[in-house]
Amino acid sequence: MNCLFCKIIAGEIPSAIVYQDEDCVAIRDINPQAPTHVLVMPRRHFCCLTTAVAEDPALVGRLMQACVKVAQLEGLTQDGYRVVTNIGENGAQTVKHLHLHVLGGTKMSEKMS
Ligand code: 5GP
Ligand code: ZN
Repeated sequence: MNCLFCKIIAGEIPSAIVYQDEDCVAIRDINPQAPTHVLVMPRRHFCCLTTAVAEDPALVGRLMQACVKVAQLEGLTQDGYRVVTNIGENGAQTVKHLHLHVLGGTKMSEKMS
């Protein structure tokens, strides 16, 4: 499978890893949309949240825990932050390997689109 994030997880493409555990790897986004912009991605390939919830819902819970862990490591928990995942065409998902964006360090726009 020719998946960019699988290659990053395998170490074939370099990235700035901020956190990892048995389930996931969290890296800095190459094109940050906020002072802190981290992508939390499962080691196992799922195209998106829909498939991951169907195939391993418990993992999705652990990914959310990893997002909070990243927020703590990055010092975001006091002022707040945003966790978002884009799904499919209308969700404007560009990399088809499930990932959660952890965004913080500034007041995010209230706009959701
Ligand atoms: P999506 O639009 O699929 O929700 O988000 C994909 C994200 O992956 C984007 O924010 C984009 O900047 C990031 N990205 C794309 N290619 C790379 C890469 O090679 N390395 C890293 N660290 N981030 C990437
Ligand atoms: Zn993948």
